[in-house]
Amino acid sequence: MAEKTQAELLRERLAYKPGLSTKLLSEEEISKADAYCEGYKAFMNAAKTEREAVSEAVKLAEAAGFVPFDYKKPLKAGDKVYRNNRGKSLLLAVIGTRPITDGVSIAAAHIDSPRLDLKPNPLYEDHDLAYFDTHYYGGIKKYQWTAIPLALHGVVVRKDGETVQIRIGEDPGDPVFCVTDLLPHLGTEQMQRKATEVVKGEDLNLLIGSRPFRCDDESGELVKLNILKLLNEKYGIVEADFLSAELEIVPAFPARDLGFDRSMIGAYGHDDRVCAYPAVTSILELEKPAYTAVTILADKEEIGSEGNTGMQSAFLRYFIADIAAAFGEEARHVLSNSVCLSADVNVAYDPIYPDVVESRNCAFINRGVVLTKYTGSRGKSDTSDASAELMYKIRRLMDDRQVVWQVGELGKVDMGGGGTVAKYIADLDVDTVDLGVPVLSMHAPYEVISKLDVYMAHRAFYALLARE
Ligand code: MN
Ligand code: MN
Repeated sequence: MAEKTQAELLRERLAYKPGLSTKLLSEEEISKADAYCEGYKAFMNAAKTEREAVSEAVKLAEAAGFVPFDYKKPLKAGDKVYRNNRGKSLLLAVIGTRPITDGVSIAAAHIDSPRLDLKPNPLYEDHDLAYFDTHYYGGIKKYQWTAIPLALHGVVVRKDGETVQIRIGEDPGDPVFCVTDLLPHLGTEQMQRKATEVVKGEDLNLLIGSRPFRCDDESGELVKLNILKLLNEKYGIVEADFLSAELEIVPAFPARDLGFDRSMIGAYGHDDRVCAYPAVTSILELEKPAYTAVTILADKEEIGSEGNTGMQSAFLRYFIADIAAAFGEEARHVLSNSVCLSADVNVAYDPIYPDVVESRNCAFINRGVVLTKYTGSRGKSDTSDASAELMYKIRRLMDDRQVVWQVGELGKVDMGGGGTVAKYIADLDVDTVDLGVPVLSMHAPYEVISKLDVYMAHRAFYALLARE
């Protein structure tokens, strides 16, 4: 082999060069990542909504020995507890050996994804077709939601107080639903519109039926009546029960391997279940960590972390306060010494759309988890912007545990931007930085991630939660 030149040697010593995990990882590690992703796909197929993600995570946690947290009971190192917040967000903790005032380690992901929600009074008939009227949730390109198979998930609380679970469109034998689109032959006017208006929000109506209730009576709206009859037979609900329901329309396709080499996964809702799943699996592996470990699965991130299941609410503060109280301490003395990985996705470089990112500071598929110092927009507005000291701490943790990682920004300066739960946790005086998986086609009904990157997320969150 030729000897290295002086420049090569100097570059090796001084220059930063992120690596591809397909080169940095052994065959054995790559097989481990592929095997890990079988569990991830199963989770994705079972958990398409925040409620389902909580149920699945609770199942996994209980199987690993976690029990519901009772703030009146004492806690000791090795205890594994969870608090289910209204079925839509979840807190998991493993109590550490260090004093609680040394702080806790937090991995915080969100489990809501962009979708179409049913309106409070959704059912109507128009020209012998029955529809559900919707109001979209989160940042979507509305035109992407037409002409694809859709499923209905959620809960209805009936007049009698009974909660009915609905999940239809997932089993091969189930019917599916869709939002229709205009044929190109007659789309001339539509195609002239701005992309935001090609399909208008108020036109996202879900087609759900076309056969009338058979009778002699010609009183009208018999297709709608027939749907009500079917819903009543199957779920025992009446039309007024929609007023006390949370019904979400999500893509009906399952998570699948993507590419001849099966290196990627295509699925609905990688943002942010691709971080939520590793945030759960990593805490389940802990026995008696040094620092108390906490995993958060939050709701409502896609609409600004609002409400009592979103990260702007006090539920994390109260949970930490209850844990602190079990050791006779104050929450603020715990939070001020805590470290949090805001576990969220970031944009992956897409060679088809290279202009929106700056390639020296953006994430790539297969280069591992992406550490994002700041998100925000217009000159770092609305971001917590992690400190140099915290960046160092996380860098060290990942390098020590051979996590393949890279840095990223959410797009070019002034190109747009966005936010995560990071700033709300930072507001609690916690050192917080974003770390997650790079995603192609983020917020589309079908998003793409790399299997190696998901596995690296598991390893990265474990590195934090198991820190010495
Ligand atoms: Mn996200
Ligand atoms: Mn998002």
